[in-house]
Amino acid sequence: MSASATTSRRPVFYPNPSPSAGEPFLRGHCSDLGDGPVTVTPCDTGGDPVQLTAADVCPRSEAEPEEGVADAASLAFLNEPSLLDNIARRYAHDRIYTYVGPVLLAVNPYKTLAELYSREAMDAYRGRAIGVLPPHVFALADRARRMILSDRRSQSIVVSGESGAGKTESCRAIVDYLAHHSREEAEDLCTAMLSASPLLEAFGCASTLRNKNSSRFGKLMRIWTAAGGASFSHSSIETYLLEKGRVSNHAPGERTFHGGDAAPHNEASPAAEFASVVSALGALGASRGEVQSAAQILGAVLLLGNLHFADDEQDKAKAEGRARDGLARELYERLFGWLVRRINTSLAAPSAAPAAGSTAASASGSVPARASAEEGGSCYVGGSCYIAILDIFGFESLGVNSLEQLLINHTNESLQHFFLDRTMRAELAMYADEGVPANDHTLVARFFGSHREHASIRLPDVILASGRRMPARKSAPPDGTRFVVAHYAGEVEYEASGFLSKNLDALHPELPLLLQTARGSLRVRGLAGGFSKQLESLMATLGATTPHYAAGCLDLPLVLEQLRCAGTPQLLQLMGRGYPTRCEFEALASRYRPLLPGFSPTLSSRDFVAALLAALRLEPATAAKPVADFALGVRRVFFSAGAMATLDELMHGSQ
Ligand code: ADP
Ligand code: MG
Repeated sequence: MSASATTSRRPVFYPNPSPSAGEPFLRGHCSDLGDGPVTVTPCDTGGDPVQLTAADVCPRSEAEPEEGVADAASLAFLNEPSLLDNIARRYAHDRIYTYVGPVLLAVNPYKTLAELYSREAMDAYRGRAIGVLPPHVFALADRARRMILSDRRSQSIVVSGESGAGKTESCRAIVDYLAHHSREEAEDLCTAMLSASPLLEAFGCASTLRNKNSSRFGKLMRIWTAAGGASFSHSSIETYLLEKGRVSNHAPGERTFHGGDAAPHNEASPAAEFASVVSALGALGASRGEVQSAAQILGAVLLLGNLHFADDEQDKAKAEGRARDGLARELYERLFGWLVRRINTSLAAPSAAPAAGSTAASASGSVPARASAEEGGSCYVGGSCYIAILDIFGFESLGVNSLEQLLINHTNESLQHFFLDRTMRAELAMYADEGVPANDHTLVARFFGSHREHASIRLPDVILASGRRMPARKSAPPDGTRFVVAHYAGEVEYEASGFLSKNLDALHPELPLLLQTARGSLRVRGLAGGFSKQLESLMATLGATTPHYAAGCLDLPLVLEQLRCAGTPQLLQLMGRGYPTRCEFEALASRYRPLLPGFSPTLSSRDFVAALLAALRLEPATAAKPVADFALGVRRVFFSAGAMATLDELMHGSQ
């Protein structure tokens, strides 16, 4: 096939020379796309032609609808600028959700879109397959709901993204949706789930520069089906990596946890907020004595914080203040652990549901859940399946990256591996479903052959290597305290000094005794070691499920960076090894029929597309040659990387 004669005025995107001023890419036209320099005439700015290299420019389609397409996988060109442009078009119409193949992207609207989350919307998405209605987090939630009931297999919805991207709000919408559709069967469960969130937020969220209600912990919520699997019966929460250091230390302009703060995080007065927290604790079943103890501990944490600030300047006092910080953090973490256990007790037995500690045999073979991050209060809930909703801190690359960032990025690295692995399998399954003659060893080898190229860090090695050099991809300045890890989302430089003390979070030798009398036994364990175990268990939990993904995005100038952090380009690259662009016959036919008024007007959409592609001499996949230009499925046509672009060029270039 050849497209050379058709590229006289080729539409392209090219990098904005001053991206901070606005969009990262600009529109232009170029005459030719060879290997040498390319001359691009800008469309939007009306400026002089610019000289660029071929690698800098990306082909652009002029046939995309003004309001964007619901699934970016049906864009003519699957490149970053086209993806971004599609998100921008949709965002301009308040369409904050877009699919990219199996992933749902969400752009934070920073305004209330009441209709989008109304009861009517919840009812509309019930029982509707993905793609029937506009992209929505409800569509993902409903697919998980339908699949758990039909397949009797656990499901998971993984929500990731940067701080402020809208993860917690997305999770809330998912829980609201599931609660709405199980209200009749499980009223108590819904009430317990919905009342747990404000409490977790009061104790685990803080005002940061990015988000006034930023979750400073990871959260996995599971909603379990009753034995027999017909409806939801109870739920559980696990938390990860509470950023307890915030109790004594936070960036200027930020605050400590709402719960450990003397100021309210919304318009209410501190007294009113405190009263609402107390009453929510009561609703959870906490006794007066427990609530009083919790209040005393909070008071102690606040006091310790004040002492710290008073003594900060003097060396001797500072050494003591370190011990104080350790105590304050430990107290706060334990209080948070207590809260999570309390919540789990109420979630495990909202009414007549199986009680905490139940060890009913598993009907589905799913692993029993440890429903608490703390061993002391763990409750094992056996049997049936669950929908797991993971609200997890996204990839972070800050000015200075320390142990917390390494743990967070390591988590994201693991999730990304898991995600790509599952995506490859899902792609193959979809080809099989559509009858694409490609599900053979060739394609499997293409997929699986070359994707294991991410950074791999084994946490304990890194952490325990305090005295030795850190194992790293690239070593750093001569002082040896910095190292660089090449993550999927980009390289991150870590500052290793302080790793060990953060890891052990060493307590003053006398503090364990003091705490022991007040709060039972004390275990001091390495943060990273404990976290590795949690991560392992998280991956095992997700591994036992069918996953659904949602990635949050911040507002538009940052969307590209967000997409990179969410691993979207990698997803596109991976999909590019198979048939990355897929389009329903109807959509493709209506795109090209107007350009060819005389061409086979009576054919069905599928036959029209088949005839068009044959006429243009694009090569169809066959059993003998499974990876060709395109493959016809049952409802869609699948294009190999670049093939739809060629088609688009052939159709538009001749105009
Ligand atoms: P994250 O958990 O990713 O840090 P949040 O979910 O807390 O971010 O969202 C930050 C803020 O953005 C919220 O407090 C809310 O004001 C706004 N926001 C997020 N998602 C939405 C949404 N879908 N609709 C309206 N506002 C939203
Ligand atoms: Mg959050």
